[in-house]
Amino acid sequence: MPFFICPNCKERSVDLDGYDGFSTQAIQCRSCAFGFLYELLEDYYPAPETGFVVCDRESRVLAAGRGVFELTGYRDADLIGRDVTEALALSDTTPIEVVREWGVRKMGQPLEIRTSAGIEKRVVVDFFPAYDDDGGLLLALTPR
Ligand SMILES: [Zn+2]
Repeated sequence: MPFFICPNCKERSVDLDGYDGFSTQAIQCRSCAFGFLYELLEDYYPAPETGFVVCDRESRVLAAGRGVFELTGYRDADLIGRDVTEALALSDTTPIEVVREWGVRKMGQPLEIRTSAGIEKRVVVDFFPAYDDDGGLLLALTPR
């Protein structure tokens, strides 16, 4: 059974009566009306301070959820369209390559990012591949 999570408000949903089979892009968040939900193979419980960043197959940011600003100092408009590894100065891009190449998730990666103020911040990042044809990925960033 697929699980869906809203990249904005982090509302999880499993009961999408009749929506199964549609692209993740077709489903809107019932809680905050965010434009799409992200499909996960297994249920996932983000921390309250976790922020989600959704990327396309080229790692360009499509959307940033609530919590990302608190974590990075960047607003959606600062991030959208940029390469996530450059925008956040991710200390290691290997997990993204693994996720993209193998379509598996990489959990609990201890990395550093650089905030908009130029401060190095320690985070744990969970990487999820997209299961639709667009083949992007989702980053869940949590401070550590
Ligand atoms: Zn939502």
